[in-house]
Order: sequence, then C-alpha cells, then structure tokens
Amino acid sequence: MSFDDNAQLDTSQVSDVRGSGGFGIPGGGKTIGGGLAGLLITVVLGLLGVNGVLPGTSGSGSDDGRALAEKCAASNPDRFEQTDCRNIAYINDIQQFWARALGERYRPARTVLFSRAVTTGCGSATSAVGPFYCPADEQVYVDLTFYDELASRFGAPGEFAQAYVLAHEYGHHIQNLTGTERQVRRLQQNDPGRANRYSVALELQADCYAGVWTAHAGGGPVATVSQADIREGLQAAAAVGDDAIQGSDVHSETWTHGSSAQRQQWFSRGHETGDPDRCDTLTGR
Ligand SMILES: [Zn+2]
Repeated sequence: MSFDDNAQLDTSQVSDVRGSGGFGIPGGGKTIGGGLAGLLITVVLGLLGVNGVLPGTSGSGSDDGRALAEKCAASNPDRFEQTDCRNIAYINDIQQFWARALGERYRPARTVLFSRAVTTGCGSATSAVGPFYCPADEQVYVDLTFYDELASRFGAPGEFAQAYVLAHEYGHHIQNLTGTERQVRRLQQNDPGRANRYSVALELQADCYAGVWTAHAGGGPVATVSQADIREGLQAAAAVGDDAIQGSDVHSETWTHGSSAQRQQWFSRGHETGDPDRCDTLTGR
C-alpha cells in the first residue's frame, strides 16, 4: 500500500480524546461488555449493568484537533510513519469511497481515538472490547494500542490489518445508514434463538463491505493497495474469527462474528466483486 504524499488529510473526521482517561464516566451507566468475545463488535446496547468500574481520571478530552492537523499535514514528511496519521488516511479514503457509492444517503461518521476507556452513545467501554461502532452516536471507537494486540496476540501484524479493522467498522456504519442494522435487530428480537446467527450475518457483511472498499481504494489518500495488502487483510480477518479466538473448544452456536474461513470468504467476495450488493450475508447470495 502506498499513500499519496500530497494528500490533504481531513483530520476533522477524527476526534482525539487519548490521554483524557475515559473522561467523566459516571457510575451506574451502561457498560459495553465483551473481552475477547466483543472483538470488532458491532453494537452494544445495554448488555451489562456493571457500575462504574472503569479506570481513569476525569479530563476534558480537550484536543481541538489542531495538534493532529499539524502532525498529519502534508508539510510533515514523516506523517505516514505515524499510526494516527495513517489511520486518518484510511478513514478519509474509506469515507470518500462510501460517499461516492451512496451519494446523498451517506452521512460522514467520526472515529474517536481513545485510550483505556471512553463514554459513548451506547454506554461506556474499555479498550478490552476492541474497536467498535456505536449506531446511537454514529461513531467508530478505536484505541490504537489494539493494533499491537492484533499483532502480538492474534498474529495479524500487517499494516493493512489496521485498514481492514477500520473498513469493517465503517461497514457497520453503512448498515446503520441502509437500515440493515435495525432490520437485523428486529429479526433477533422476534427470533432470539437465531440471534447469534443474525449477528454473524451482520459481521460478515461488514467484512464484505471492507473488501468492497479495498476494490475501490486508490486515488484518495490511499494511493495503491497491493495483493500483499489484501493478504494482510485476509490474515487479520482470519485472526479475529470466532474459531480462532475460541481455539479448539469450538461452539459454533455461540459465534457472533463467524469463523476465520467465513470472514476471509466474505472479505474476498467484497474485494473481488467491488459491489456492496453482493454482500447479502442474510441470504448468502
Ligand atoms: Zn463488527
């Protein structure tokens, strides 16, 4: 993958609250649950009633974006050495694609960079849940140290793993905009016995949408995507498969995201077709 050295990054698509320590999380709020099971979660509405157990001190999260804008400006020749600037380039590129694909139906979604803990429209969360999208406030949440974990613990060290993770989360934003997310939530409520299967369908579709973006990446801040990048994306998709995480103790009825093979398969389908209409994971078409 290469970046466009001259690209003007839109740092306003990111809100940087790192270092604010999970600013002002009140006791008694909803806590987004998960641990490993919550990896790359889609949405988390009142799963647990755990009271304010989150670490961190109150702070303002006062970065108004100027620091990032300066750091990631084209005048800084080292900007693409920086994880945050690279992630902004991915986010800009992903949103540029979807804005083109969906036209007026697209609403930009911000990514919040946080450390340790954060309060969201879906409740409060710690970094342990991994990156996620909250439909209530239409924001993606990422603690960038997750990528270290992805490399060391899950064996997906590639740079493009980061692009895959972000593209997957923006895939959930697309599901929110198209109404698929709400439709699947209704199906889950009406048929709780199949709730997990519906969850898997949502997650695989987000993987497929991530693949669709890779088919169109290029020409934006992300200048080129290579076959090696796609292999890294596939490796990451496999690393966060339910069976990879559960190890030999595989209970497919408890899966929420799909197996490694399924995740790779749908990411590939998105990449190969470049067509979001080919991402119908509910019917498998
Ligand atoms: Zn997801």
